[in-house]
Amino acid sequence: LPRLLVIGFDGMESSLARGWAQEGRLPHLKALLEKGASAPIVHGPEIVSGNVWPTLLTGFPPHVHDVHFFSRILPGTYRTRLGSSGDCKKDPFWAPFARQGREIRVFDVPFSWPDPSLGGVQVYGYCLHDWTWPPSSVPPDRLRKVRRKWGRHPIAACHDFTSEPDSLVALRDGLLRGIERKTEFLLEELRTDPGDIFCTSFSEAHCMGHLSYHLASESHPDFSAEARRRAGNPLLDVYRALDEALGRMVEAWGKERVAIFFSHGMDLPYNADHLFPEILARFHRHLDGEEIVPSVVASPGGGSVADRLWRNTVGLLPGSLRNQAKRLLPISLRGRISQLRTNDVKKRARARAFTIPQDGFSSLRLNLRGREPEGKLDPGREALFYLDALCNELHALRCTKTGAEVLSRTFRLDEVADPMKPGGGPDLLVWWRNDRPLTQVTSPTLGTIVGRGASVRTAEHTMRGLLVVSAPEAASARKGVTLDTLDVAPILCDLGGVEPPRDLPRTSRLDELLPASGAEAVRS
Ligand SMILES: [Zn+2]
Ligand SMILES: [Zn+2]
Repeated sequence: LPRLLVIGFDGMESSLARGWAQEGRLPHLKALLEKGASAPIVHGPEIVSGNVWPTLLTGFPPHVHDVHFFSRILPGTYRTRLGSSGDCKKDPFWAPFARQGREIRVFDVPFSWPDPSLGGVQVYGYCLHDWTWPPSSVPPDRLRKVRRKWGRHPIAACHDFTSEPDSLVALRDGLLRGIERKTEFLLEELRTDPGDIFCTSFSEAHCMGHLSYHLASESHPDFSAEARRRAGNPLLDVYRALDEALGRMVEAWGKERVAIFFSHGMDLPYNADHLFPEILARFHRHLDGEEIVPSVVASPGGGSVADRLWRNTVGLLPGSLRNQAKRLLPISLRGRISQLRTNDVKKRARARAFTIPQDGFSSLRLNLRGREPEGKLDPGREALFYLDALCNELHALRCTKTGAEVLSRTFRLDEVADPMKPGGGPDLLVWWRNDRPLTQVTSPTLGTIVGRGASVRTAEHTMRGLLVVSAPEAASARKGVTLDTLDVAPILCDLGGVEPPRDLPRTSRLDELLPASGAEAVRS
């Protein structure tokens, strides 16, 4: 049976990486792209930064696996809580390997959860961009052993860095040391105890991308020659180090099957999430028959969820304490403190719907009778009317300066599932136009709304990824295929010679990428 190495790169922008590979700056990626089959992953509007990993790993859509961003609604309440590793209702793609007797090795895959019933070696939280939930491992003492031998990642959390040149240099240097250390650790595992399927990931492209994307290309509105002179191109530095790590790991893996994927990418950071609460408040006044005075009202700036978590907790401490606290407080604890501060339960109970703050997009939960404790909208026709009307209003919004539409696309839960089924996710996701700052929007019904976002980021997530698969014995590798998020898990099972679970919504498309190399071909 084939052995399989899977490396995920979190938040790595495929257009940048492909361009730099073509120029010869990422030689190992270039070689893999030439040897293997590659396909862009086009994520639908329901896929966001906080659910893309569980969707890729399980092969099920978010409303089925039920993991949603940092926080989720606590059923039967108006409170949000942070996600926990028990939320995911589906298994990752390595579970069928373990169940069919193959040895699994899983090191630091975002949003994964070590499952003792699968055995093997599973480590979560040695070195990740955000630990969504507390670090753990199978066997239980494995994580402690890894940390004792290799030390911790030099960048415990990237949220206290900014996009200023000095901060970028410090972040980059820490990330480069972290990549080096993690690669040494992974290479030793690969050499001594590789198992049958070895899955890992690197988060560094994600951390560096949010803050230094503006120095990666002169076309970014925040590009500055002076900052480039002082900080160089930190994102390219990190991509090069990741390319080096990729090359060393693929070499150590030998003539076996390899899959790499980029979960999602980075693009311009602009959006109107900071205006969304005011947009919604005015929409509700409009439904109540109140006349909206088309006045200019400033709405408070937002910033990313991570920024706010940080500012509202550790950010309030004096400097010296802050430095201690950031070592001591894992993101989950900081988040929990912040959740208590930001949950405005009474206000949510009174409204037809309420927003849940997000990174780069917006989300809305309806206050449904029978689902929420003090529901205001009947599920069915009333909810349908509400969402239709709101989406029409969002479509009608224009950027006051350019006259351009500000809505990019939406996802409605009611189009794919019964909203009354229990689940902690939003009913509506809103993607905004991201190519220029949205500080002033206007519509005939809602008037003009003004406000500036407060994020320090120069890039936000964009929902496109990449899968590259290679099987040295495959006769040909095809290009030109486009994949959906749900295609990845069955392809990885198939590539590893394991029949994908029958209940997955999609069947394997490996044959379109590497003809005659799937599990069936391997067995016959
Ligand atoms: Zn990070
Ligand atoms: Zn991010």
